[in-house]
Amino acid sequence: MTTNGNRTPLIAGNWKMNLDHLQAIAFVQKLAWNLTEAKHDFGSVEVAVFPPFTDLRSVQTLVSADKLPLAFGAQDVSEHVSGAYTGEISAAFLAQLECRYVIIGHSERRTLHGETDEQVAAKVAAALEHNIAPIICVGETAEDLEKHGPSAVPVAQLRAALANVSGAADFVVAYEPVWAIGSGQAATPEQAEQVAAALRAVLVELLGDDVAAKTRILYGGSVKSGNIAGFMREPNVDGALVGGASLDINEFASISRYKQHVGL
Ligand code: PEP
Repeated sequence: MTTNGNRTPLIAGNWKMNLDHLQAIAFVQKLAWNLTEAKHDFGSVEVAVFPPFTDLRSVQTLVSADKLPLAFGAQDVSEHVSGAYTGEISAAFLAQLECRYVIIGHSERRTLHGETDEQVAAKVAAALEHNIAPIICVGETAEDLEKHGPSAVPVAQLRAALANVSGAADFVVAYEPVWAIGSGQAATPEQAEQVAAALRAVLVELLGDDVAAKTRILYGGSVKSGNIAGFMREPNVDGALVGGASLDINEFASISRYKQHVGL
């Protein structure tokens, strides 16, 4: 069962710079156990975690050895494949660790590390080249919202991020208003839907109806178990990118199980 057409909802937990590789092992084991005990249907709502780079090998080993039904990915990737780029991590390495996804263009990368739209586009291309689905983050600041309205900046960022993409690429879009990230002040479901619909229209225009119909658009920004249902009722919102609340196993499991506790 899926909520929005044929798009399987995705609940993605961005751990940011939290949990070392030992903590990651314990966390992933408990999360998988919690969801399995609760009879979570992973085919109906996909659940993914995004640990720091240094945890990925441990998470991969655990998920693969115990055949855990969780997906995982990285929080960033280099735009380059190999070479003299000290400190960078190649998409080829992430592919070898069986990362299904990689977050690209998170607002913390854009603001704290000066990541440009061009770099985001290059990273998206690098991930796709290695069969890793990018989760392309877009979103406006409070100032952008006031000056340009809700959709202008996210739409422009998505257009730029897709500059090197053509055809039936497998990627996810995450609409994350910067003012809602970590602030406790989530967008309303109506605000999220308005921007998600505008982003889907960009997908139709650039990549055609089929890609637009199958691409998941997530909402991110202060998502919790108490507000996830409202977002998931919207026709263009296909899941959530969760930061702070993804570090609490019970809370993240509860967000993932939104269908059970809200009757969707
Ligand atoms: C995020 O980091 O992508 C995020 C949405 O954080 P939070 O859920 O804490 O607002």
